[in-house]
Amino acid sequence: MSSIAPRRLVLAAGLALAVLGCSSKPTSQQATKPATPPPAPTPITAAPTPPPAPQPPAAEQGARRESPATRGPTPPGRFNGTPPELAQRPGTYFVLNGTPEKVPAVKLGERATVARIIDEGKNRNQVMDHLTHLTTKLGPRLTGSSRLEAANRWAMEQFQSWGLESHLYQWGTIPVRFDRGPSHAKVGTMRESGEFRPTRDLEFTAPAWSAGTNGPVRGQIIKMPETEEQYEAVKDKLAGSWILIKASGQGRRGVGPMSGGAQARQRFFAETRRKIEAGELKLQPDAQPEEAQPEPQPAPEAKPAAPTEGIAGAWEGTATGGRIPEGGAPFTLEFKVEGDTVTGTMGYPNYHSGPIKDGKWDNASKTLTFSWEGPGGTGTYSFKLDGQTLSGQSQRDENTVIALSAKRPQPAEAAAPQPEAARPARRAERPKGPSIDERVFMHAPAGYISASGDELVRTSGNFRNLSMANLPKDVEITVRSSDYDYINSRVSDGGTIHLEVNLDHTFVEGPIPVYNTIAEIKGVELPDEVVIISAHLDSWDGPGSLGTTDNATGSSVTLEAARILAAVGAKPKRTIRFILWTGEEQGLLGSRAYVRELKEKDLLKNISAVFVDDGGTNFQGGLHCLDSQVDFLAAATAPVNGVFWSSTDQRFLDVNIQPGRRMGGGISGGSSDHASFLAEGVPGYFWDEVGRANYGYGWHTQNDKLDLAIPEYLIQSSTCSAITAYNLANAPTLLPRQPLPRNEDSKDTSASAEPSSSNTQATAR
Ligand SMILES: [Zn+2]
Repeated sequence: MSSIAPRRLVLAAGLALAVLGCSSKPTSQQATKPATPPPAPTPITAAPTPPPAPQPPAAEQGARRESPATRGPTPPGRFNGTPPELAQRPGTYFVLNGTPEKVPAVKLGERATVARIIDEGKNRNQVMDHLTHLTTKLGPRLTGSSRLEAANRWAMEQFQSWGLESHLYQWGTIPVRFDRGPSHAKVGTMRESGEFRPTRDLEFTAPAWSAGTNGPVRGQIIKMPETEEQYEAVKDKLAGSWILIKASGQGRRGVGPMSGGAQARQRFFAETRRKIEAGELKLQPDAQPEEAQPEPQPAPEAKPAAPTEGIAGAWEGTATGGRIPEGGAPFTLEFKVEGDTVTGTMGYPNYHSGPIKDGKWDNASKTLTFSWEGPGGTGTYSFKLDGQTLSGQSQRDENTVIALSAKRPQPAEAAAPQPEAARPARRAERPKGPSIDERVFMHAPAGYISASGDELVRTSGNFRNLSMANLPKDVEITVRSSDYDYINSRVSDGGTIHLEVNLDHTFVEGPIPVYNTIAEIKGVELPDEVVIISAHLDSWDGPGSLGTTDNATGSSVTLEAARILAAVGAKPKRTIRFILWTGEEQGLLGSRAYVRELKEKDLLKNISAVFVDDGGTNFQGGLHCLDSQVDFLAAATAPVNGVFWSSTDQRFLDVNIQPGRRMGGGISGGSSDHASFLAEGVPGYFWDEVGRANYGYGWHTQNDKLDLAIPEYLIQSSTCSAITAYNLANAPTLLPRQPLPRNEDSKDTSASAEPSSSNTQATAR
């Protein structure tokens, strides 16, 4: 928090407390003030004009990188806090679609307790201590990793140290633990002396649960040959070298298996390895005895892959529309079908790939629907299977539709149909046998280098179908596009440069238990009824990332909300439960398992509401809710309003209530753990995180470090969560679950939370 803010805010707090008519424990500043109560509160705008906004810290300037850490001006109509001229006395208004309104008269929590929560949250907030420990001491927390288990246990001990009951809830196991140690990649030149002289540190990643190097591995960088001539020119240098894969995207498209993205390449490597072991592939096909040389026969037509049933397995295709460049972008799908439940991944090669969520297959209509979280936000996808073609679309907003069409991947040799002219020559010059990609692979290069489409390298990966018996063996790193251009231009100019990569990857045989950390403040009147404050503790673990804004910030906000409520001795009527989920990045695994158990025990009816903070370091600036829930949420969040002044934004960090006919923020499937509850009709809220931070800059990228955190926002978020939970835990009833009957003036603004495709940089999610 900048030095200015506290004094100013304390002034405001003093006023707020006055309004709330209760004395707070004197803090240092207040001690100096005369005993007499401050004069009657005057509108905030009367406060002296604030000094010029201080310069945002370096991290927020991020000039050097393509996608800055802070985003540009807030688009018109998008709420980003209440300007001073609109704000009213603290806690006396709620914000409805951006406009201050009178607070509905709903009796919720004790005003004195709310005042103590505000005082504790503003003047003794420890959210940054939790965040600093989670990131710099415990580090990135991949599902199933040692670091995450340590974080689960640390959080449990924190909760217990504040007097809460807390335990680890095991939601399952994973087959193999993956621990990533310190990793580096640098390019340089080799001196005569054999000494390696690094010239550039790369920003890169390698998928989680992927092959590492056994210590630093150094090799010359060779561009992936695409023609026989190119292959002949480099074949003697391939062993132990690093293969530079042509960047695809922006109109540049790779060919054959090498173009399909990291996961498609891993499939190609595994398949080629199988063929080699089966003797189906040899670098030098067996020489035919002279006399037996048969007449060169026309190459048999590439046999299209045998049609397979349903949608299980791999698909490849092209997506068009929205911001996708002219000509479309290649994408891949891979599905596993159990009954009507579909799991799997979707990916845009070298850009981003990740798990699909809420996959549903309807065999009768041959239709598939799922939601997928991409850098541009979350979208719902619906596909129809017609023969061997899967065609689908994703409605981004009322005028943007992404069209997708996919087929089964063709066997490698069929991948690159050659123009007629080339065909006779190739057949003439290349005896029947392995493709260029296969031959390069068989020369045992050190590994492969692919390029990201921008300056961000996003980490993903999955542990499905993994066992100690089939651990990946082939190394691939993805570098940011400027690193690719640095390498590519030097190699293309005929330069000889080397790459040294050290990937410290450790696999531990499972089953590895995986946990959510749960804690609670028991309700004093209705202990079986529950309000849940939560966030996911797991993160991706790419080199450079500490898993800060996805999602140590939400986890720290949840921890601090619990500490504040414990510190003020809150005694809510209903139980307030704090949950740190894991397995979120792999498909909401921890929350889905928890919801499944509550459902089996018929306990979902007792959950009043579930709140998820998973929008990074921005402040809790809004809730999308049903029109029937406005009164409760308005009264619950009103005490936050007019209290947190940001001198940087020149705004009050208020909570904007946005009613509609659908719950929870964004599409019903949604992209975080609240969706697991929404799927069962339980009110699940994804805090609409508002502010100057550009979420996409740290989302799964190398930049997700502590310096992205904005303390004043996290102080608001943790205090807001404490107040909202306490108030709803004291509400007259559980939150309504159905919208108001149609004929009622339903205040339906059908605010679509789906982020517009105008800003490809992820605004949140
Ligand atoms: Zn997240």
